[in-house]
Amino acid sequence: MREIMYKSTRSEGEPVTASQAILRGLAPDGGLYVPTEIPSLKVSMRELADMDYRDAACAIMAPFLSDFSQDELRDCVEAAYDEKFDTPEIAPVVEVDGYSHLELFHGATIAFKDMALSLLPHLMTASARKNGVSDDIVILTATSGDTGKAALAGFADVPGTKIIVFYPKDGVSPIQEKQMVTQRGDNTCVIGIKGNFDDAQNGVKDIFGDPEMISELADKGFRFSSANSINIGRLVPQVAYYAWAYSRLLKKGTIRDGEEIVFVVPTGNFGNILAGYYAKLIGVPIARLVCASNENKVLFDFFRTGTYDRNREFILTSSPSMDILISSNLERLIYMITGENAGTNAEFMRQLKENGSYTIPEEMRGRLSDFVGYYTDEAGTAELIRDVYRACGYICDTHTAVAAHVARQYRKETGDDRQIVVVSTASPYKFTRSVLTAIDPAYECKEDFTLIDELARLSGTKIPQAIEDIRSAPVRHKTVCEKSGMRDVIRDFLEI
Ligand SMILES: *Cc1c(COP(=O)(O)O)cnc(C)c1O
Repeated sequence: MREIMYKSTRSEGEPVTASQAILRGLAPDGGLYVPTEIPSLKVSMRELADMDYRDAACAIMAPFLSDFSQDELRDCVEAAYDEKFDTPEIAPVVEVDGYSHLELFHGATIAFKDMALSLLPHLMTASARKNGVSDDIVILTATSGDTGKAALAGFADVPGTKIIVFYPKDGVSPIQEKQMVTQRGDNTCVIGIKGNFDDAQNGVKDIFGDPEMISELADKGFRFSSANSINIGRLVPQVAYYAWAYSRLLKKGTIRDGEEIVFVVPTGNFGNILAGYYAKLIGVPIARLVCASNENKVLFDFFRTGTYDRNREFILTSSPSMDILISSNLERLIYMITGENAGTNAEFMRQLKENGSYTIPEEMRGRLSDFVGYYTDEAGTAELIRDVYRACGYICDTHTAVAAHVARQYRKETGDDRQIVVVSTASPYKFTRSVLTAIDPAYECKEDFTLIDELARLSGTKIPQAIEDIRSAPVRHKTVCEKSGMRDVIRDFLEI
């Protein structure tokens, strides 16, 4: 098999192997790693239709991870997609009110981040072995809620790794905090910061860039790494479920072999939808990728006008994981549509950093025709949840509702009658209050766990283990520190 290497989006340096790109996370020049060429799929959709998720994931990912042996990749995949998922299908495709929903929330933390973060720790330790890295890998993460828990669950008890998560002490939801502070695993550490998310994020970035701290750790046999969504090791696992979704529709007879379909993706950092684009490029018959935004509609404006402009009010919505004004992974797409010109891309990124905006020329816009952007406001999101519940009894979470509403707008405006798959990114149990008050505002005054029982009753679904766990689980992480105290907390935990 031809080796696929990875290069930075910002300069013409020496390409690195997949495993090196995974270990590093970010390229040394601040760019993101992208494949030097897009591989092609080695299996047909028909063949995928007869596989289970693990076999399919191995077949789809192998060409991207060409320096991993088949056995190495299989070991990683088997460790990732196991009983932590509450269904053997891992990512079921279900029919909801005339649309297909690809449910990506059956993992340990009931959000789609589990699809990549269950696998990343194993890819990372395998990468360390391949590259003769014997240090323990210390994952540092700042989180506003969801990523922290998914990374903790993924790295818990993985030999050769430790994970330290910093969250804003008063800046996450009670359920999110409870999920994190009850985390098991001797290699996990969760710390509340007296500050906001930016303080936590800046603190982590400072430590990553602190040569003294890095060499202090190296002397004791540790090295830092990141579980952030800019790591190619998070993107590649997400390509798999787009091809998988296609193969499920084929298996059910919903579509004919080769028939093109449309995906609608609720988008924040642009990682999920970019993986869908990679799936199209390797050969999955995808007609269009519809980018669904909430009221923070930076991407909608970009696809409509060619101008990316983050200079605007940050709006807190009921779909917090999409409340984002800088979609980091868009850089990979921008690089592609410059004709892989690192200099031009770096210049746009400089403008974004310095002025908060950039405008791409007409010819680059012409290369975006596989994408279309739509958005939904808060009223539309709530209305969708209520209408779908009334129509068929299915309850979707707020992020999925943004996409499902967009799917209806898209179909109405374009008349496109191809099969539409709504990418469903979280369990409604994670956002119980928003979901139930969308159905009936009278729920507003009820307690969280009362609402959870009510959601189970209304939807006829079983309460996920992730939620049962936090009802009774003891709090294991109680440390709270000042912004200035982060380094000491790390030293304490690592016993150095
Ligand atoms: C992270 C997240 C998203 C956004 O995905 P991106 O890859 O950042 O675009 C959407 N929905 C949920 C529930 C998420 O946790």
